[in-house]
Formats: sequence, C-alpha cells, structure tokens
Amino acid sequence: MTKAEKLSLGKINQRLESNHNRIEEQLLRKYESIRGNDGLLPHQKALLLKNELGSMNIAEGDFLPIFDELYGNVDAVSLETASDMVRLSQGSAAGRISSRDQVIKYWREDSQARMQKWGKAYEQQAQALFELSYQQNWGARRTADELNVLLGRTEKNAARIVRSSGNSVRTLTMKQGYDANNIEFVIWNTSGSDKVCPYCSARNQQVYKIGEAIVPAHVNCQCYLLPFKKEWVQNGKFDKEWSKESRRKGLEELNKAGGAANNGLTPFEKSMGLDKPPKPVWTAEKGFARGEAPRVITKPQLRYLSLSELKALAQERGLSADRVKELGKTGLGKRATWIRAIAADSRG
Ligand SMILES: [Zn+2]
Repeated sequence: MTKAEKLSLGKINQRLESNHNRIEEQLLRKYESIRGNDGLLPHQKALLLKNELGSMNIAEGDFLPIFDELYGNVDAVSLETASDMVRLSQGSAAGRISSRDQVIKYWREDSQARMQKWGKAYEQQAQALFELSYQQNWGARRTADELNVLLGRTEKNAARIVRSSGNSVRTLTMKQGYDANNIEFVIWNTSGSDKVCPYCSARNQQVYKIGEAIVPAHVNCQCYLLPFKKEWVQNGKFDKEWSKESRRKGLEELNKAGGAANNGLTPFEKSMGLDKPPKPVWTAEKGFARGEAPRVITKPQLRYLSLSELKALAQERGLSADRVKELGKTGLGKRATWIRAIAADSRG
C-alpha cells in the first residue's frame, strides 16, 4: 500500500471507528434493561435495541472527499512516474501527459457505493448478532466484543477498496502516459503477495500490447506494468536474465506454497467479459512470439532504405516523434545523419 493509500485508509477507518464506538457505547448502556424484559422474544429485544441505537450503517455519509484526495495524489504521482519512465527509456523528455478524469470519476463513485454496501452489511450483521445474543444470554460485554469483529471486517473491506481502486487509477494514468509517448508494449511485474498468485505469477515478466494487459488482475492485486520496447531486447537495454530469474523464482515459490500457475483469464478479465487471455508478444523463456521479433537491419543495409522506410524504422527503434520529424526535414539529403541516429539508438 502506498503512502497516499495509507493516509486515506486512516481517514476512512477513523470515521468507521467513531461511528462504531458510538454504537458500542449505546449498546453497553441499553443492553441490560432490554434483556430483563421477560415479555419479549429475542428477535423483539434485538429490534428494540436496534431502535435505541439508531442508524447502524457505520459507513454512512460521504467518503467522496477522501477518495478525491486519494485519486488526485495517485494521479499526480503516476503522471510523474510515467513521465520519468519514458524519459529513462528513450533518453528524451516525455511528451505532455494529462490526467484521466473519466477514470477518476468512475472510481470515486464506485468506491463510495462499495463503502455504503459494507456499512449496510455491518448493520445487517449487527442486527442478527443482537438476536443471537439475547437468545444465548451473552450479556453486553461479549456482544460488544462480537460487534468489534464486524468492525474489523468492515475495515478490511475498506482497505481492499482503497488498494484496488488506487492501483487502477495508477495503472490507467500510467497507460495514458505511455500512450502519449508511443510506447506500445508493457511488461507485467508482480509485487508483494502477487509473487505467489496463480494468475499473476503466470503473467510475471510477459510482454503485452499496451491496453491488452489489465492490472489489477483481481481484488488486492499489486502488480504493475512497465514500458517495454522490442529493440531493448536486442540492444542490451533490457536485462533478460533478471527477467527470466524473477519469473522462475515466482513460479517456484508458488509451487512450494502448493499453488499452480493459472494461464487462463484473470478474475477481472472474466468480469469484463473477455473470452480469452491476452497473448504475450515476448516471454522470458521463449523470447518473441512468432512474427513479433523486430527486424534486424545492418548498417550497410540502411543505405538502401527509402525515406518512408527510414522513418518507420526510426519509430520502430524508439526514436522520439520529435526527433523523427526533425530528421524528416532533411529528407534523404543527409542519409548519414539518419543512419547515425537510427544506429546509435538501436545498437546502444
Ligand atoms: Zn496481481
């Protein structure tokens, strides 16, 4: 969980706890007098107690300002990170990247609705708990302790909401950053508990077309996607051995924990209605999929390419759009400059 996520979760938990504490305090005060009422059945006592306590939806109220703050922070950090990644990977400044307002709009409303749902679940479970408590004659203290378990459950669900929506905003913002900078591929990276997740471990260190890889893959997924360019494999800018090792280790740990890699659809892909998982264009074990390897063109061959072929190649080799445009102005008059630029960028 990131710092921004922890901060927001802290604020949410504070709200949940203060509502819970109010309910608990009332419970301890009112429970016994209702218990002593012999004319009532357990479910009637529970109903009476509930009426005394008032609203028991501990997630009642507006969490939108908390989510707004969270996604604003995540968005800003992701934009910066995407921009840094692009700069590092292509050695030039990143193009302009703006935030994904639509995505944020969706997640803030979805997260608010999910908070309300769990608040409602607390209320319903508390009601059932009171009935059981009067039936079994638990007394006020034990009932309050059981109510505390419900609070713990609600807080766990709040953490899930914060984590998976935070990760979604982060991924989509970064994708936008890559899109704006002509990065066409991403490499899947597991982190934290996903190192031993059957779905994520199976995807670790596989390269996908941007947009085809969907992270998070499931609730609580902490995977992230990094930019990838095909030519990095050939010019040594990408550490193939590290990648292979990371994948091997993850799968090994997964097996040790008694799990097995699952190459099928991830839970989120399923819920999006996809019918088959995305095909990797490069994998740590097998390298490029058929037809995906970039062309290998030697320096002497470069002399025979047309202007449009040189442009396409320059793009393929990861030269920035600005650089290609600048080179394009010279036409073929300065073929040597073209060749130098392409060769320098492609051979490292
Ligand atoms: Zn994952």
